[in-house]
Amino acid sequence: MTLDRRTFLGTTAAAATVLAAPNVLAQGAGKPRVVVIGGGAGGATAARYIAKDSDGAIDVTLVEPTRTYFTCFFSNLYLGGFKEISDIGHTYGTIAASGVNVIHDWAVDVDRDAKTVTLAGGATLPYDKLILSPGIDFVDGAVEGWDISAQNAMPHAYKAGSQSELLRAQLEAMPEGGTFAMVAPPNPYRCPPGPYERISMVAHFMKENNPTAKIIVADPKPKFSKMSLFQEGWNKHYPGMVDWIGEEFGGGNVSVDTANMTVTIDGEETSVDVCNVIPAQKAGRIADMAGVTDGNWAPVNAADMSTKADADVYVLGDAAAQGDMPKSGFAANSQAKVCANAVRGALTGSKVFPAKFSNTCWSLIATDDGVKVGATYEATEEKIAKVDGFISETGEDSALRKATYEESEGWYTGITTDMFG
Ligand SMILES: Cc1cc2nc3c(=O)[nH]c(=O)nc-3n(C[C@H](O)[C@H](O)[C@H](O)COP(=O)(O)OP(=O)(O)OC[C@H]3O[C@@H](n4cnc5c(N)ncnc54)[C@H](O)[C@@H]3O)c2cc1C
Repeated sequence: MTLDRRTFLGTTAAAATVLAAPNVLAQGAGKPRVVVIGGGAGGATAARYIAKDSDGAIDVTLVEPTRTYFTCFFSNLYLGGFKEISDIGHTYGTIAASGVNVIHDWAVDVDRDAKTVTLAGGATLPYDKLILSPGIDFVDGAVEGWDISAQNAMPHAYKAGSQSELLRAQLEAMPEGGTFAMVAPPNPYRCPPGPYERISMVAHFMKENNPTAKIIVADPKPKFSKMSLFQEGWNKHYPGMVDWIGEEFGGGNVSVDTANMTVTIDGEETSVDVCNVIPAQKAGRIADMAGVTDGNWAPVNAADMSTKADADVYVLGDAAAQGDMPKSGFAANSQAKVCANAVRGALTGSKVFPAKFSNTCWSLIATDDGVKVGATYEATEEKIAKVDGFISETGEDSALRKATYEESEGWYTGITTDMFG
């Protein structure tokens, strides 16, 4: 962290606060303290595992503003009508009952010299180890004509909850034969197959409710995750409905007009009824504030997820620049377990196992038509490196596709139990 005026003032103020101590939350005397910022796939898992495995030897505080976390995973299935919004909402009561101090507030600053986190409510949390898993924020100005104040007119639905409900309501209100547009993000971004699973689920919804509707995807990329599987599925289940405009045809040259509900792709303006803008992404802002990012993401050491900038600050999940893993909930959960083991070892001397990571991303294309891609990874000096992988094949029979979907249902139950207890 460079010591500029802001940092100096922040450091001095935080040190004074610690000395004066009235609003420092007193953690158990003498025990090492871990603060986790962000109660999603990475943070909730890390908090739970450190508390559980240290059996009370470490004080763990989880800072998360929302009282109900809606998983982005399966939020597309909610758009498609396969899930209710309540199916993807999870609360923090069981984590709290298991010994984690859950604080529903925003972390608004990190002082790495004083080793404190400041909350929007005014409290200051001291830490010995700090874990950041804040997910994503959007890159300002990434899509011409769109900013966060326009998210009601053109939702991103890339943080689940009210945005997912809004997009679903907009789908339901689309006029007969209307047009749905998606502005897809550039790499790297949260959940590589996510936009294309969403297109599948929107198409499924339209086939059932508005079969003459059209879907346009403006994409800055020349190809995307599981591309041949999705395109095979769109041709099979939704023929003629989806028009994907990739980089070659100007899919990255896009602007939107939220007032007039138009999308201009490579100079051609189209009136649309619903427009799902998924902008370019970066690490959640608190990682910037902590001074552990380099560009849009936070570089980390693969062996334990500690940041390159500070050995006592760890970054998990989407916010991390870690190497070969995709930005997925499965990946964040896997990284959290490696990090929890390392943090516990550093604070209590317990055995630290070599880091191993895995990921699978399932996508639903149509009823009982699930596909998957996955890999295992190991920690090298340089990065989390892919060891081997697998992917569904085109032309698979319907029994295998149904089994793949059922596997994803089992995974969802497993990971949410792993996160929330
Ligand atoms: C449409 C869609 C579909 C997806 N499908 C899948 C899938 O099928 N499988 C899969 O594995 N992944 C999927 N993902 C990706 C997955 O949701 C993310 O990769 C995962 O949630 C990342 O975990 P995280 O811990 O990094 O961030 P998150 O899970 O987003 O958690 C971040 C948390 O930090 C909190 N936070 C942020 N800033 C602060 C702050 N300053 N103070 C306190 N708290 C803060 C937020 O409120 C949030 O709860 C999907 C994503 C999308 C958008």
